[in-house]
Amino acid sequence: MSRLQQISFLVTGFIVGLAFLPILSRLGEPGMLHDFFDALGRMVASPFLRAGEALSRLLGVKKARRPSGAQDAQVDAREQRINDLAQTIRSLLLILTAAIQRTDLAATNSSRALVEAREVLSKMALPPELARTASHLVAQIDRVFDSNSYLKGELANSQEILSTQQQLIESLRTAVRIDGMTQLANRSFFDDRLAEVLQLKKRYNDSFFLMLIDVDNFKNINDGYGHQAGDRILKGVAFKLKSTLRDSDFVARFGGDEFALVLIKATHDTATALAWKLCESVRGSRFLLDGKEITVTVSIGVSEAVAEDTAESLLRRADLALYHVKDSGRDGVMFADVPDGQPVPAH
Ligand code: GH3
Ligand code: MG
Repeated sequence: MSRLQQISFLVTGFIVGLAFLPILSRLGEPGMLHDFFDALGRMVASPFLRAGEALSRLLGVKKARRPSGAQDAQVDAREQRINDLAQTIRSLLLILTAAIQRTDLAATNSSRALVEAREVLSKMALPPELARTASHLVAQIDRVFDSNSYLKGELANSQEILSTQQQLIESLRTAVRIDGMTQLANRSFFDDRLAEVLQLKKRYNDSFFLMLIDVDNFKNINDGYGHQAGDRILKGVAFKLKSTLRDSDFVARFGGDEFALVLIKATHDTATALAWKLCESVRGSRFLLDGKEITVTVSIGVSEAVAEDTAESLLRRADLALYHVKDSGRDGVMFADVPDGQPVPAH
């Protein structure tokens, strides 16, 4: 290296040293680095901790809610709040992930630049008065290396917090979409699924059927054996329905003693056969109340979707078919296969 290059390195190093020393020496003050990273850690973690507390509070609401009746409205409001919160947290996660990546890159780049500066400084033959400044500078550079690796550790922690929070949000979202008593999908989950399947119907014209399944004379069970016994029957019916269906069939608790099923990739014949299978499966089950075996039956109204259907029109037709089954003696299946036409018995 020429003498001129050495002098220019020396001057550059000196200027860099003068510029960085005040910052570095402040970082070197007792507690300063610790406070800095402590504040950074709190800044990154605090939105998630607050979100976690809010979500836990919402879960508390879930545990305390009434078992039936006005429950649907409460589920909707709670789910809406969790969805809003999940949306906010997702946006926050995106922003923070980008910030973490940028900070990580900056720390890596600054470490690289400092390695070069350190190498140049340590190789220079300096007069004694500058050598002291240079060795001070090298020591400060080493401290910045340490700070950078500490910062990277903190960033890795933050990323872990982010992914834990993400998992928590997803599991809460699943939890609020499940009916607490029957463990089936709840009404709002069903509404979303129905909207999705209707969209697919419009785009690809895939056939699908909707079934409304209502327990017959359920009030008599409540009146005769009590509300808790009624709950046990509802759980039993839900279990029976679920275990008779394939995993791909989507069954939900529609409300009260009514269940709804979306049946995709089915023909009129397979839907008819399945509806009767469900009826027979519930009728053939042993339900024990007060040591007595009782027979439970269900009525099923079925509608086949057409491209023009909305959720409301499809549900209305299935409901009309269900009404006709009830009217004609219960424990049976009725098809509403023609929009605006009369329901027809399914044999
Ligand atoms: P139908 O054959 O015409 O359906 O007669 P039903 O007696 O079953 O009449 P309906 O379906 O209208 O009655 C539903 C009853 O279910 C009314 C309500 O008190 C009761 N119910 C709603 N939700 C629950 C619940 O979560 N648990 C219990 N035990 N009963 C419920
Ligand atoms: Mg009923």
